[in-house]
Amino acid sequence: MIREFVKSFQPYKVVEGNYRIWLDKNENPYDLPGWVKEEIFEELKDLSFNRYPHITSMPVREAIADFYGLSPENVAVGNGGDELISYLVWLFEGEQVVTTPPSFGMYNFYAKLNGIPVVEVPLLEDFTIDGHAIAERSKNARVIFIASPNNPTGNLQPEEEIIKVLETGRPVVLDEAYAEFAGKSLWRLIEEYPNLIVLRTFSKAFSLAGVRTGYLLANEEVVDALYRVKSPFSVGVMTMAAVKVVLRHHELVERRVAKIIEERERIRKAFREFTYPSDANFLLMRLNAYEFLLEKGIVVRKLSGRLDGHIRVTVGRKWENRELIEALREFLEVRGCG
Ligand SMILES: *Cc1c(COP(=O)(O)O)cnc(C)c1O
Repeated sequence: MIREFVKSFQPYKVVEGNYRIWLDKNENPYDLPGWVKEEIFEELKDLSFNRYPHITSMPVREAIADFYGLSPENVAVGNGGDELISYLVWLFEGEQVVTTPPSFGMYNFYAKLNGIPVVEVPLLEDFTIDGHAIAERSKNARVIFIASPNNPTGNLQPEEEIIKVLETGRPVVLDEAYAEFAGKSLWRLIEEYPNLIVLRTFSKAFSLAGVRTGYLLANEEVVDALYRVKSPFSVGVMTMAAVKVVLRHHELVERRVAKIIEERERIRKAFREFTYPSDANFLLMRLNAYEFLLEKGIVVRKLSGRLDGHIRVTVGRKWENRELIEALREFLEVRGCG
């Protein structure tokens, strides 16, 4: 009954168990404080749950547009950034989707799901993009995906390399899911480059992974095109209320981002030899410690392929990081190279 094509996709791996410390999904370790949740609940009281949400999510697009000083016509919102990626792979003319592995898996996932060929232009040795190589191989690309900071390597991509890719004129999705932790974003380039789509999310810095909202900043024409084909009611009234409230408390987000950055550097310093620099809320480590950490009750992300033998570790709360550091020190001692 089920198509072979569907069976060629792996089932989602659910890591379950009584683990104490979850550092595997790049989530924000701090939930919203109770008083911010109360504000959200207050907003919810006045909403009609029996009615469908606004069909083009205008209330929350306006809030995001105000935050950036843009027009809502430059903002599109989805049920997570992932939903937006699912449309971005087939919105544009051209043939292939271009990706730069090792990078975020959802670009290839949605390309495959839609039967779209993928051209992979690997990152260089230092995990930066080769703008010239991407441009060379994107002559007929429908869209190019670049993550900056990149997941799972953590590094920002050099602006001049991104510009080389933008100069091709082909649509470029610059995935800035972790931009708040880098303190740098290229979103303002959307005014200069109508082929630039900047993808952002509330899942990481804004602590709303469970609420599911991502957004993009782009040229009016791209946003208009997206809203012609987007699933109409995928952003619910509760989600929009939560986003509006959280945007009002940006200072809180900034304080937490600063704390996470401080902790990130603390972990990196402890294992400098095995850890790559990071501009995000996670660290890439050249340590084959996945199983060892799991036994200690700490879940991280195990990587494969070119990053075989590496783990990706989300920066957690202070006590979680302390336990992570202790466990990794023990791992190195056991291995006899500590
Ligand atoms: C987390 C993440 C996203 C978006 O996640 P959503 O929760 O779907 O908004 C997008 N790109 C990258 C690289 C990410 O790591």
